[in-house]
Amino acid sequence: MILILKGGATEQQIDHVIQRVEALGLKAHLSRGTFRTIVGIIGDESEIVVESIRAIPGVAKVVPVLPPYKLASREAHPESSVVDVSGVKIGGGHVGLIAGPCSVEEEDRMHRIAEAIAASGANILRGGAFKPRTSPYAFQGLGEEGLRRLRDVGAAHGLPVVTEVTDPRLVPLVAEYADLLQIGARNMQNFALLNEVGASQRPVLLKRGMAATVADLLMCAEYILSQGNPNVILCERGIKGFDPATRNLYDVAAVPLVQQLSHLPIIVDPSHATGKPELIPACALAGLAAGADGVHIEVHDCPEVAKSDGPQALLPEQYDELAQQMKKLAELLGKTVSPLPETTA
Ligand code: PEP
Ligand code: MN
Repeated sequence: MILILKGGATEQQIDHVIQRVEALGLKAHLSRGTFRTIVGIIGDESEIVVESIRAIPGVAKVVPVLPPYKLASREAHPESSVVDVSGVKIGGGHVGLIAGPCSVEEEDRMHRIAEAIAASGANILRGGAFKPRTSPYAFQGLGEEGLRRLRDVGAAHGLPVVTEVTDPRLVPLVAEYADLLQIGARNMQNFALLNEVGASQRPVLLKRGMAATVADLLMCAEYILSQGNPNVILCERGIKGFDPATRNLYDVAAVPLVQQLSHLPIIVDPSHATGKPELIPACALAGLAAGADGVHIEVHDCPEVAKSDGPQALLPEQYDELAQQMKKLAELLGKTVSPLPETTA
């Protein structure tokens, strides 16, 4: 950590800064420039509270050398992490293709969609049973009945399942049914929820909040990792932009950036990022080309009757065409779309 002192820092203040650093059991290296004095702190900076160092009189700026998300950082873990979702690997060259309706719907429809996406090469089935809706009057999901249906339909087609958990009190229930716990954009900074999914030890799909920076996203991943759960997959799903022409602003650059900063897998969700079926295939391929470890897409066989997010759903045949392109692109990039897990039935 480097401390840059104020231009007019007095000798007394400089001595005090050095005393405070040494009191923490660290070494201070003083460097006097023509205009500014700099104090380099030598030793393990992980225990230092940046806020209190910044509050020492005479200190202008504190520049940490290590990122604050120490478990999530690539420095801490140079190898790319591979997360195993009940036999489907994501990360380190393994591509996850997550697809399904926004909400868990009628049983026969769920079977039709699951069968279609599995035939196209998807390896994880999605569906929300607890829906975080902007309006309290909108469809809120089928609750536990939805969880059971999602799990049973997934099992019938050999697909692990992902569903959102919206409340720390629901984590044990959702973890009973889901192979992958989704934390939605609206809950990215729900720290009680992050701690709870961390403690569950289930793989977690952490979506980027709609007004969150990449550093915010990595700090939220750190919450989960700090509970001893290494199975975190990040998801770029678009952030708030100023132009309503697309639902959100798809931040493709976040993919290679996260991969530089972190060892965690990152997937893209062009469905929520764009909200427009006609843009989704191009944006899915752009995400993969940028290095994403997977693609998450909403698919519905009759979008006009969908319980939520119908306008952004791809039809199964549109998904199939895209899935074939995604598989080819993955191969071109030297990656493989993870096959479905062997069933033991
Ligand atoms: C979803 O996946 O259906 C969802 C609500 O996503 P997000 O949290 O990214 O809006
Ligand atoms: Mn949705």
